[in-house]
Amino acid sequence: MKTMKGAILPGNGTVELASFDVPKPGYGQVLIKTMASTICGSDIRCIYNEHVGKGPEGYQPGTIAGHEPCGIIVEEGNGLKRFKKGDRVIVYHISGCGVCYDCRRGYAISCSSPHRAAYGWQRDGGMAPFMLAEERDLIELPDELTYLDGAQVACGFGTVYEALEKIDVSGNDIVLAVGLGPVGLAALQLAKAMGSPTTIGVEVNKERIKLAKDLKLADYAFTPGENVLDDILAVTNGKGVEKAIDASANAKGRELAIKATRAFGKIAFVGEGGTVSFTPSPDIIHGQKTIYGSWVTSLWKMEDLVERLVRWGIHPERLITHTFPLEKAGEAYALMSKGDCGKVAVVFE
Ligand SMILES: [Zn+2]
Ligand SMILES: [Zn+2]
Repeated sequence: MKTMKGAILPGNGTVELASFDVPKPGYGQVLIKTMASTICGSDIRCIYNEHVGKGPEGYQPGTIAGHEPCGIIVEEGNGLKRFKKGDRVIVYHISGCGVCYDCRRGYAISCSSPHRAAYGWQRDGGMAPFMLAEERDLIELPDELTYLDGAQVACGFGTVYEALEKIDVSGNDIVLAVGLGPVGLAALQLAKAMGSPTTIGVEVNKERIKLAKDLKLADYAFTPGENVLDDILAVTNGKGVEKAIDASANAKGRELAIKATRAFGKIAFVGEGGTVSFTPSPDIIHGQKTIYGSWVTSLWKMEDLVERLVRWGIHPERLITHTFPLEKAGEAYALMSKGDCGKVAVVFE
């Protein structure tokens, strides 16, 4: 049997390369040659430093990491219905049971069956040259998009698109992203593609502020502080933004997203963990504002997103600032953990 190296996360801020058999696809499964795998904030938050995730975010020790994979099918299992050898594919990163209410809605992320398993968490993911995937979890990668684009879609861009759709971003809206990590940057890139004429970012890390400006994703970028709300009001005719997304997961950041949104505006929370406090009457009720919670996306919306990325002519790959080979996965995770970067990817030959 052929063997390969795969990256596992022991939970002490290091990455180990362990030996695995190259898997054989079973019924309804494919073997994918991984071409790109990006690192997510949730990998760092729940797995890299400590295995703090529970339930759907519980990492099974020894599992090959990486829930944002993109590659090409190199071997078919029996019983395939749509995909075939040679197809370029994105893996939607949760394999649901397929038959519960949530799976039938396309939201395998919300599946609570014991048969649910997320790639890179409870079953082997994309930080290895080959990975096994269920055909039903695949999204076709159009020729116009790169493997790095696809890896970006597998989790981050899918999550952001879902949230921006929930708050109906259009050409009417000034859009604010609080937190300019990969998710906040993706929010600005997609908001522009969806028509937003003006985007605003708020971020602590100076490298990320610079990146948002250099890539022309944020028309205005502010660092949090006493005056940040006034700074936002000053560039929005004193009214605030129509739409805001919080990707900071920070209590003050979330409060800012609410307060900086104008009357009848909409706010989406996608940053995970932490808490928030606000005063319902002045902050939400009197301003007739709506807050949405948004968790990943559905299979069908991910499919819509790749079609639209081609239509808009944009590449999520632009937000990837660093790429590493698998042998240097340790450096890749360490950089992502430090945060002086956009998105970080592991790429394969
Ligand atoms: Zn992710
Ligand atoms: Zn299910």
